[in-house]
Amino acid sequence: MPPLNADLHCHSVVSDGTLTPEALAARAAANGVELWALTDHDEIGGQHRAAAAARENGLKYLTGTEISVTFAGETVHIVGLGFDADDPRMHEGLTATRGGRGARALEMAEQLAQVGIHGAYEGALKYVGNPELISRTHFARYLVEAGVCKETNEVFRRYLTEGKPGFVPHRWASLKDAVRWITQSGGVAVIAHPARYKFTPTEEYALFTEFKAHGGQGVEVVTGSHTSAESARYADTAREFGLAASRGSDFHSPDESHTDLGRLPPLPEDLTPVWHLLADRIR
Ligand code: AMP
Ligand code: MN
Ligand code: MN
Ligand code: MN
Repeated sequence: MPPLNADLHCHSVVSDGTLTPEALAARAAANGVELWALTDHDEIGGQHRAAAAARENGLKYLTGTEISVTFAGETVHIVGLGFDADDPRMHEGLTATRGGRGARALEMAEQLAQVGIHGAYEGALKYVGNPELISRTHFARYLVEAGVCKETNEVFRRYLTEGKPGFVPHRWASLKDAVRWITQSGGVAVIAHPARYKFTPTEEYALFTEFKAHGGQGVEVVTGSHTSAESARYADTAREFGLAASRGSDFHSPDESHTDLGRLPPLPEDLTPVWHLLADRIR
């Protein structure tokens, strides 16, 4: 039997994706996805729509989110899968962590104005599907529209990242809290795209060690954000730390994402797929 085509990481208009949960479900089904999770940044407002759309498209579904965390001065993303989307502790945690985004966005716009890019806040807002979730991605789309950059990847090379105009350092949730919100509500916590963080080996070891100690159980091995060498490297990390492996495209938009829903290599066969830990949570 071929391995299950699971895609457990993507974004809708409820965070910084450009498609609705319904359009994502249809696209996932058309691409051969069998098990799907919508993982909007710091948001679970799309979960009931996504689960219903999954059912209509014949997809199995796991609830999902991608929580922004500050660890050792860096932003780390923790994916939560298979939690109870109606758990009040999850809602309270995510509502609190979303709260800082508005003020951060105004500061980002001020910095951009200082380098001659005016109206970025209002411009970014045009791309925002959820007023509680204004993100750098929305600014990036506006900077492309305004002709400052050709594509969003260029925006993140020239602006909005550390040391560049428009970057505002921000304190997100703690690793401990994010893992707790997920596990308390019955889900499994997964370290997202580990190759994307600029950690020293010591800091990375601390991340995996503390994540495990807090009850984290998975790591993304195959993701749209990893090269095949990076996937091999984090397959080894999964073995070393006894973590289950996840697989997800991190799809945001047909115009921006190079990895489409479900179009990913399989997980290495010896690793435990994270969905095996969540068999009773699949809908
Ligand atoms: P925020 O949560 O507001 O800090 O925005 C983070 C989002 O910006 C990520 O989820 C990505 O969608 C996008 N992003 C960050 N860095 C890059 C990059 N180098 N290239 C493309 N998109 C990026
Ligand atoms: Mn994003
Ligand atoms: Mn991420
Ligand atoms: Mn993501």
